Amino acid sequence: MSERLLKGIGVSPGIAIGPARVVRSTLPEVPAHVVPRSQVSKEVRRLRAAVSDVRRHLLELKATAEERAGADEARIFDAQILMLEDKEFLAGVEGLIRENHLTAEKAYEFKALEMRDLWSGTGNPRLKEKLVDLNGIVIRVLEHLLHRGKDDRWATLTEPCVIVAREIAPALTVQLPRDKVIALVSEEGTRTSHAAILAHSIGIPAVMGLAGAEAKITAGTMVIVDGARGTVVLRPTPAEIADARKDETRRHELTAQLEQVVALPATTTDGLRIALRGNVDLPEEIKAAQEHGAEGVGLLRTEFLITAHNALPSEDEQAAYFRRVGEAFPSHPVVVRSFDLGGDKLPAPFRVPPEPNPFLGWRAIRICLDQPELFRVQLRAVLRAAAHARIHLMIPLVTRLDEIERTRAIVAAEADNLAAQGIEAARTLPVGVMIETPAAAVMADRICEVSDFVSVGTNDLTQYTLVVDRGNARLADRFTPHDPSVLRLLKMVADAARAAGKPASVCGEMASEPLSAFLLIGLGYETLSVSPPALPLVKWTVRQVSAARARSAAAAALEARNAEDVLDIMGPALAEAVDVRLLFAGPDARLPAGRAAATLKL
Ligand code: PEP
Ligand code: MG
Repeated sequence: MSERLLKGIGVSPGIAIGPARVVRSTLPEVPAHVVPRSQVSKEVRRLRAAVSDVRRHLLELKATAEERAGADEARIFDAQILMLEDKEFLAGVEGLIRENHLTAEKAYEFKALEMRDLWSGTGNPRLKEKLVDLNGIVIRVLEHLLHRGKDDRWATLTEPCVIVAREIAPALTVQLPRDKVIALVSEEGTRTSHAAILAHSIGIPAVMGLAGAEAKITAGTMVIVDGARGTVVLRPTPAEIADARKDETRRHELTAQLEQVVALPATTTDGLRIALRGNVDLPEEIKAAQEHGAEGVGLLRTEFLITAHNALPSEDEQAAYFRRVGEAFPSHPVVVRSFDLGGDKLPAPFRVPPEPNPFLGWRAIRICLDQPELFRVQLRAVLRAAAHARIHLMIPLVTRLDEIERTRAIVAAEADNLAAQGIEAARTLPVGVMIETPAAAVMADRICEVSDFVSVGTNDLTQYTLVVDRGNARLADRFTPHDPSVLRLLKMVADAARAAGKPASVCGEMASEPLSAFLLIGLGYETLSVSPPALPLVKWTVRQVSAARARSAAAAALEARNAEDVLDIMGPALAEAVDVRLLFAGPDARLPAGRAAATLKL
């Protein structure tokens, strides 16, 4: 199987099974002619007419794209029209016609190749994308000048097929007859390629970035394209085809079920209401969190404000951003996490000598407390935003109580300063703590005395408990939040918070995965902060399970000897309530790993 399984990037979901059709979109042969001086003006006129015809054609494609993919996506063609009409480029072509007496097509080809060489040398991904657009336009203009007329390649398609090409132009994507072209596969391209965006909106399954596709997939070969997983199976067996069809049916069923739960509350079958919030790293995710029904933001990461600009953001800029996120969720809290710099994310403005162990070094709250200017500006921004929205503050990587007390003291001092300066800001706001270290988990009862809420960052908690670098691929199978040691810490934190009457949540990646969400409910968590795309899946799971069953399974898991045994307990318990075969049909990577997956499949 392995040599028949090709892996690329899934850019548009869906499964298609059919024969491949390899489309080679090379530049047409352009004969080298020179024209007599008397014909030069005629050639210039031909060039201008061709450009204006292609422009008309691109506008038609834009209208088709608007209809098939949507107005935003159709704007891709505006960029193409601008490229087509580039004054400098066209002046260069006309110059070649006038001075060298080339035909319009030869001059155009010459200039286009020059441009292509210039762009392809840079390795810049944005220029690579522009290159695909350029190629599409050049082919169109040359074909026009060579009187190739209308592109009727698709008229010859008699049966549904999978288009395989080195690169796919946006124009090609919108023109494809949907009944004949069932999927796209290309060597070039990523999720953000124009053709990928259009394929996704139109609903054609597509896999891009599949190296050597043109050579490996010969015309007529039967293939299964899985546009979610990013795979192509060559010459599939009947059993593989049957499995793919089953997967597709289950995926449709899962999608339909997920759509139904978006507007419903995340309540377990025995009536426990779970609050599902969103984790937001970048501004682009705010919309996804809203659309997927997030009840506020449980973790607003703020590092991008520095890393995106490689400079320190101003108080105004931060206040405006926090306010904007807060106002996007008017009836729910937005938890702003103070800068979690260091470890793997120490941006340029902080030039410090390299540390031997950055994850055990100068990071997160340690940096903020050592750099009062940085911290004060952020805390003032948070207080200002809190005057307009339900903003909470959360401190990362706490290991000592005095870190919380010192932060609170600065918050209070800055609230006084803002008031004295007459600047609109909250006088106070809830200050919570991320439980990400064994030290904080073990001290959770004391921490709850000095904080308003706690939220467990299971990514770091797992790393520091198991002494496994969360980014080390070689140790990836040791990095598991299901280890009973991590679960016992999670339980300690939930119990301590409950005893203190303080809210506790989980905002690590673990909460975004259905089986773990079930386990966390069993450990006593009623608020989960989840990566926005995973919200429907987690809600769908919550609505099918009972908290009582989650608790009994979690109690057994706490007694387990290792992570594998935990999964063997939790997997079947989840399968009692949830049709777990649907989970496996989904392309979602946040599925139970290893033994749990094996158990669930039964
Ligand atoms: C965590 O550690 O679990 C967490 C949510 O924080 P980050 O992933 O940003 O370190
Ligand atoms: Mg963390």
